[in-house]
Amino acid sequence: MRIVTIIGARPQFIKAAPLSRCIRQQHHEFLIHTGQHYDAGMSDVFFDELNIPKPDVNLGINTPGNSAQVGQMMLALTPILEAQKPDWLLVYGDTNSTLAGALTGALLKIKVAHVEAGLRSYNRDMPEETNRVLSDHVSTMLFCPTETAVANLAREGITANVHLVGDVMVDALLQNRARASRAMLAAEGLQAGGYFLATIHRAGNTDDPGKLKGILEAFAHFADRPVVLPAHPRLRNALEQSDLMVSPNVRLVPPVGYLDMLGLTQSARLVLTDSGGLQKEAYILGTPCVTLREETEWVETIELGWNRLAGSDRARIIAAVEAALASAPENHPDVYGDGAASERVVNHLMSFQ
Ligand code: UDP
Repeated sequence: MRIVTIIGARPQFIKAAPLSRCIRQQHHEFLIHTGQHYDAGMSDVFFDELNIPKPDVNLGINTPGNSAQVGQMMLALTPILEAQKPDWLLVYGDTNSTLAGALTGALLKIKVAHVEAGLRSYNRDMPEETNRVLSDHVSTMLFCPTETAVANLAREGITANVHLVGDVMVDALLQNRARASRAMLAAEGLQAGGYFLATIHRAGNTDDPGKLKGILEAFAHFADRPVVLPAHPRLRNALEQSDLMVSPNVRLVPPVGYLDMLGLTQSARLVLTDSGGLQKEAYILGTPCVTLREETEWVETIELGWNRLAGSDRARIIAAVEAALASAPENHPDVYGDGAASERVVNHLMSFQ
């Protein structure tokens, strides 16, 4: 098979790493990086650490504005896909690169396969939700990480070529867990179990000073707990453009690599995040999580008691953290798969008639 893979943002590098390796054992992969995330900390480090092959093309598109970004990516992708004529076009997750890739492929009548299909927050204010829904609806094959995702697609009438394969992020995590780095703990003087790990990057939080204030005030409440906060560029910009202050217990650091992030997540007493991937990684690594959103696509983490939705209100976040610290959930089933999602994806692509 000839496969074109489109990636462009941090979580997609992590998702593509195990699958790319699997594809290249028997097939030809042409890798396109859209350039959505482009610098050393948000892109290069993942290629280096996870041994992702160098992209065949980098479109270098990181224009501000979702529609401009998607439009420019579609224009740039069209001649490349026309020339490549792949058997499959692979897209991942829910970013602008996902939508641009899926839509361009579908319009060129190239079969699109969506990895991490069927995820829904049912919150259309999130650009990611629009990207997910549209990408799913133009895809020929849909790879779901969970039963919930399969059911979500069925409710939208998508039942053909839907495969429950597990989560490729579990593949990545299990393959790299033994390499998790404790360098950040040493550098920051942190004790395992003694600090919180936080990330904030959803536009709904970073672009609303009131919400960001509520979150930062909640962090300040836990004055004697270090809160490690690797800052996504969107958070960094939001802080620079506001007069919001981070409290002394917050360790604002640049984005960290995947191996540092695994180490930080594994040893944290608790994770506070609006990230999708990190909620899951916290669950898999057995670290309780408080999600700084009103809803999540990863509902299993909530149902099993490992994750709590707290939005951005100071008092709600504090209450959720205290509840999480006070009780430990008992059940920890493998709801996100067994680490063999990538192999299943390749097998399904090969056996498609
Ligand atoms: N991540 C990382 N370094 C960081 C923050 C996150 O390696 O400084 C990893 C994290 O462990 C997870 C992925 O990036 O694997 C999640 O990406 P992100 O939160 O940007 O996107 P989302 O999952 O919300 O789509």
